[in-house]
Amino acid sequence: MQDQLRQLPSVDALLQDLTLRALEQRYGHTLVVEACRAALDAARQRILAGANAPMPALLVDEIRERVEQAARPSLVPVINATGVIIHTNLGRAPLSEETIAAMRLAAQGYSNREYDLEKGERGSRYVHAETLFKRLTGAQAALVVNNNAAAVMLILATFARGKQVIISRGQLVEIGGGFRVPEVMQQSGATLVEVGTTNRTYIHDYARAINEQTAMVMRVHASNFRVIGFTHQPTLEELVALAHEKNLLCVDDLGSGALLDTRAYGLAHEPMPQESLAAGVDLVSFSGDKLLGAPQAGIILGKKPLIDALKKYPLTRALRVDKVTLAGLQATLLHYLKNEATKKIPIWMMIAATRESLDARATKWAERLRASKLDASVIDAESTVGGGSLPGETLPTRALALNVASPDTFAARLRANTPPIIARIEANRLLFDPRTVLPNEDDALLAGIERVAKHLAV
Ligand SMILES: *Cc1c(COP(=O)(O)O)cnc(C)c1O
Repeated sequence: MQDQLRQLPSVDALLQDLTLRALEQRYGHTLVVEACRAALDAARQRILAGANAPMPALLVDEIRERVEQAARPSLVPVINATGVIIHTNLGRAPLSEETIAAMRLAAQGYSNREYDLEKGERGSRYVHAETLFKRLTGAQAALVVNNNAAAVMLILATFARGKQVIISRGQLVEIGGGFRVPEVMQQSGATLVEVGTTNRTYIHDYARAINEQTAMVMRVHASNFRVIGFTHQPTLEELVALAHEKNLLCVDDLGSGALLDTRAYGLAHEPMPQESLAAGVDLVSFSGDKLLGAPQAGIILGKKPLIDALKKYPLTRALRVDKVTLAGLQATLLHYLKNEATKKIPIWMMIAATRESLDARATKWAERLRASKLDASVIDAESTVGGGSLPGETLPTRALALNVASPDTFAARLRANTPPIIARIEANRLLFDPRTVLPNEDDALLAGIERVAKHLAV
C-alpha cells in the first residue's frame, strides 16, 4: 500500500503533463491545481481502500473531467416536460420573446431607468411599470419590489410595526420555500392576531378583535391548499367595510394575482387584483412570476398616499428591483394592454393550449420515437397550473407515454442529459406533457430521449 501511495505523482509533476498544461492555458492555474489536488486525494482514498495507484493517463483524464465540470455553469436551462406550468423549482414563468428582448436591451446599455427624458433630470425607476399597472387594473398607484414576500414584509413593516394585524386562522399559510405568514409577520415587527377557526371565520370574529393597537385587517389568499366542506370566510367587501369603519387598513395578499380570468380555461377562479381594488382594499400584493408570467417581482397596487409612504420607507431601498426586471415587467404588461397575453406570454399560451394542438405534438413525438424502436404512445393525462395556484385544479392534456425497463433509471439519465429533461412517472411509465415543453425544444427533447434509450440498451 505504501508502495502504491508512493507511486502517486506530486501536483508539480502533474502540471508538467502536456494535456494539463493545455488545460491550464484554457482554464487558468487555480482550477487545474484544485482539480489535481482533488484527483490525488481521491486516488489516495482508493489506495487506502485496497486499490492500486491509477495509471498516469487515467489520472490526467480524471483531472480534465474535474476541471471541465468546475468550469461549467451550474444554473442551466432544463426542459420541463412535467406538465406543471408554473414550476417553482424549475424557475416559475418562462418569459415572452418581447420580454427577453427588452431585458437584453436594458442589460446591454444605458437606459432611462431613473432619468426623466423630457426634463433632462433625475426621474423615478418606478414610473415605468406604474403607468401600465394603473391602466390595467384601475389602481391609483403601484410599487414594484423584489418579490411578493418582500412586498408583504414591506407593507407590514411600514404600516403595522409595533401594532396588531388581524388575520383569519384559515389563512395562516405556508407557501413553498419558507414563506410562512406568522413568521413574516414576526420579522416585520407586527403582532399577529389570529381570529376564527381553521375552517370558519366570520366578520364578527374580526370585529371583536379590533382594539386601539390594531393597524390592519389582512387577507391572505390560501394559494396552495383548499379547505372544503363546512367553511366560511367573510367577503372582501365585508372586510373592507369593517376596516374602514374603524379607520384601519385592509390589505390583500393575493399570491398569484391573475390579470386574466382563469375560468375561461375551465379552471376555478383565481382572484384578480382588479377585483380586490374594486372591492375597496387599500393595498393588494402579488408575484411577478406566477400567473402574471413576468420576471420575478413583487407588485403592490393601491391608494396613492399609501404607495407614496411605501416608496419613502427605508426598507424599500433594500428590496428594490433592477432595470432588467423593470424592462421585462414592462414588456410583459404591454402584452396585456395590447390584448395579446394568450398569444405571447408563455404561461398563458400553455394554459390556453387546445387539446388538438397538444395531441398533434404528442403524436408527432410518438411517431418519431416509434421509428427509433421505442415503445411510445399518446395518452390522456392532466397538467396543473402549479406555483401554488389553483390547488387540485387540472387541465386535460395529451401526453407522450414511454414504456421502458426501468422508469426511475431512465428518468435519472434524462436529468443528466444536456439539456436536462424533467419528466414524470405515472403507472410505471414515463410521461412527457407537451403543454410545458416550449415549441423550440421539441428536437432537443426527442434527441435526449433517443440518446438515453440508446445508452441504456448497450
Ligand atoms: C407565492 C406567495 C407568496 C410569495 O411570493 P414570492 O413572489 O414567491 O415571494 C406570498 N403570499 C402568497 C399568498 C403566495 O401565494
